[in-house]
Amino acid sequence: MKTLQHKFVEVIPENVGEGFLYISLRYCTAIHKCVCGCGNEVVTPISPTDWKLTFDGDTITLYPSIGNWNFKCRSHYWITNSAIRHAPKWTIGEVESGRQAEKKDKIRYYKQKKKGKWRSFFRRWVAPVLC
Ligand SMILES: [Zn+2]
Repeated sequence: MKTLQHKFVEVIPENVGEGFLYISLRYCTAIHKCVCGCGNEVVTPISPTDWKLTFDGDTITLYPSIGNWNFKCRSHYWITNSAIRHAPKWTIGEVESGRQAEKKDKIRYYKQKKKGKWRSFFRRWVAPVLC
């Protein structure tokens, strides 16, 4: 099975090497060259609503899968324990509904986050005055 070798870096290098996954914790971003060999660079932001990165001390897992729908190759794969597992290509309809779901997730997440901020603000500053 094909694997990616991870490298923790401060900033993303100009020349992204084939077969490497560069991770910048500072910029919460990972980058690698599409594993199909097309040469395109795949940027995966790491955030609660984008990709989640797991480092077990030896290997890297990116979740969810990587779907390069904007590239000609339209490759789709998982990076699990640094190993590349190819996944079925999505239809245009599937890509579209995936994008919609992603958008909804983001909106939900940021709404919740806002709510949480208000709640803690209320508990800390408003509630003590009222009670
Ligand atoms: Zn590709």
